[in-house]
Amino acid sequence: MPLLQAIDVRKTYHKGATQVPVLRGVDFSVDAGELVAITGQSGSGKSTLLHLLATLDRPDSGEVRYEGARIDNLRTAARDRLRNRQIGMIFQAYHLLPELSALENVLTPVMLRYGLAGYWRRRAAFRQRASELLERVGLGPRAAHKPRELSGGEMQRTAIARALMAEPKLLLADEPTGNLDQTTGQGVLKILRELNQETGLTVILVTHDGEVSAAADRTVSLVDGRVADGRLRAA
Ligand code: ADP
Ligand code: MG
Repeated sequence: MPLLQAIDVRKTYHKGATQVPVLRGVDFSVDAGELVAITGQSGSGKSTLLHLLATLDRPDSGEVRYEGARIDNLRTAARDRLRNRQIGMIFQAYHLLPELSALENVLTPVMLRYGLAGYWRRRAAFRQRASELLERVGLGPRAAHKPRELSGGEMQRTAIARALMAEPKLLLADEPTGNLDQTTGQGVLKILRELNQETGLTVILVTHDGEVSAAADRTVSLVDGRVADGRLRAA
């Protein structure tokens, strides 16, 4: 059974009287342990698709399945639980909380999940795990720094550590290297690849950058709101 499936997923945005069809029947599946790139030109619907996969938005029609069960029609509480426990996300713009240190940013998912009292009871173990994750992404010495004291690559690595705090099976990344220079971006990709290989973390990476997608096991291309046939493209 695939870890994640999109089945005939459709999404149209409405701007006043104008309709903007973005996804016109997207089908693909990702197996556990894969590192898959979703590519397409700017405006092709990559972020829209990733938001649907993450249950941040709902498709107009079609289904998204996680471990075989539909997740596109979950109620809010169940969606929040899924996102907090199974799916980690990172974004082009990092989305760290500016007033928190790197370590505190990494801790936010468990604060949300367990509440302040629950967090406080297990505080030592959580801080230990968050420190280990920061070490893992090469930021041990930066744990006490605020985001404004970190470089772009360091902020993205902090965001990766935060996404891993809840031990998700799936990591969704939207243009994770989009704001980084090439060398720094490659460092971020290398970390994602190592996590994928060492822990079996499934990674879905959205990018318009061919070099980034070349780092993936497999590429899913969005063209005209559908998945282009990889066999035709390769020919
Ligand atoms: P990509 O991530 O591939 O660049 P997006 O998924 O962000 O593409 O956007 C696809 C298309 O949908 C674009 O034409 C964009 O302008 C439009 N779009 C995205 N979000 C909205 C929205 N919330 N409302 C209206 N149109 C949107
Ligand atoms: Mg986008």
